[in-house]
Amino acid sequence: MGGWAIAVHGGAGVDPNLPQERQEEAKRLLSRCLEIGISALRSNLPAIDVVELVVRELETDPLFNSGRGSALTENGTVEMEASIMDGPKRRCGAVSGITRVKNPVSLARLVMEKSPHSYLAFSGAEEFAMKQGAEMVDNEYFITEENVGMLKLAKEANSILFDYRIPTIGTCGAGAAMESPLQMNGLPISVYAPETVGCVVVDKEGRCAAATSTGGLMNKMMGRIGDSPLIGSGTYACNLCGVSCTGEGEAIIRSTLAREVAAVMEYKGLNLHEAVDYVIKHRLDEGKAGLIAVSSTGEVACGFNTTGMFRGCATEDGFMEVGVW
Ligand code: ASP
Repeated sequence: MGGWAIAVHGGAGVDPNLPQERQEEAKRLLSRCLEIGISALRSNLPAIDVVELVVRELETDPLFNSGRGSALTENGTVEMEASIMDGPKRRCGAVSGITRVKNPVSLARLVMEKSPHSYLAFSGAEEFAMKQGAEMVDNEYFITEENVGMLKLAKEANSILFDYRIPTIGTCGAGAAMESPLQMNGLPISVYAPETVGCVVVDKEGRCAAATSTGGLMNKMMGRIGDSPLIGSGTYACNLCGVSCTGEGEAIIRSTLAREVAAVMEYKGLNLHEAVDYVIKHRLDEGKAGLIAVSSTGEVACGFNTTGMFRGCATEDGFMEVGVW
């Protein structure tokens, strides 16, 4: 047994021109979340509790795209999604279309523990949340001024640099001559907001867990569901590893990215680092996504094929690192 390990992410797909100040702000938040996770692990909290705790913190801070600060739908509302998975018994819970639950990751955990199902969405998920006494807030609570501005830009013309997150030259405006560099399912898209959050943990008993939470993509269609709540795509944990992904959901879904890491460990006998490298190289379309992972033997790894990924990790032997590029 290699001791505990933890990794967090705040999204893949960072603009190379991201201002220094914003990079530092993101690193401070990731470090704070790692510290929260580390002290929980030192107090012997099981991995599943630690991932929930850390993702709740990220959801509550408006900096990244989850909980408060979530990306907005085409209608200017917030529809959040989250999932959580406990490795030892492969128990899991997921939610989508959440508009009023303060911490979607905790609702995912309630689905896992207090419902006979694995995945609840939209009104049914929120009725369940109310019955379970989950903390509810108005949809406005999640909406930040910054994101209202981004949505406005996204809806106006596409020949705009969409803030530091999104280097977009668009096509949709009448007469626009340039081609959008961003495509999804082969179609040009106007705006893409990364900064989904996730956490993976192996505790000192060797139990792995993973959780992911997001507002999805800025200007997304109402009802769009990404990879983050999909077990095996955005999130996966088993007796070998825990994985949380981020990036273009549509690409992650078609590569069942999180599960692939576990699959190549299981079927090809790769260690965690080899498994992460393998799936990033061979299963993922270029420039689309990234992931963080831990193994039950205490390894921690991350991989991405985007310009950057907000991330941090720490292990029991005192190693700690946060990075963007
Ligand atoms: N994967 C998320 C989604 O497509 C976005 C992200 O990771 O930033 O909803």
